[in-house]
Amino acid sequence: MASIFSKIVAGEIPCYKVAETDKFFAFLDINPVVRGHVLCIPKQEVDYIFDLDDETFVGLHLFAKRIAKGLKKVCSCIKVGEAVVGIDVPHVHIHLMPLNKPGDLNFSHHVEMSSDEFDSLAKEIAAAID
Ligand code: AMP
Repeated sequence: MASIFSKIVAGEIPCYKVAETDKFFAFLDINPVVRGHVLCIPKQEVDYIFDLDDETFVGLHLFAKRIAKGLKKVCSCIKVGEAVVGIDVPHVHIHLMPLNKPGDLNFSHHVEMSSDEFDSLAKEIAAAID
């Protein structure tokens, strides 16, 4: 069965998209740890990041780097942090999170955002990505 993220890529489940290439896709996390929490995924459905072939592994990180640069322009932060967990969704994803203090990268904390806020933030980030 297709993962929830493959369904997002296929357009079967809605998302707040920020970028897409032929191989990779980025969208806002629906339950953000901080404002501007983005997920970067390969379109190819692989569960565990270290099972990716080298080209996809490197390509995903270069894609995430591009997204992080756009994200930093939009969400004021000291740095954009990244994390790989993958316990909930068995489809490789890199979490990108704008950070202003060490505790910002805390998966037990979440921020509330309205669908209008998600929508306008995704568009802002998309416009800031080179
Ligand atoms: P993990 O697999 O533990 O790295 O976490 C999966 C992440 O995917 C969580 O941060 C969820 O909030 C996020 N997530 C799950 N479903 C969706 C969805 N439909 N759209 C956006 N983010 C999602």
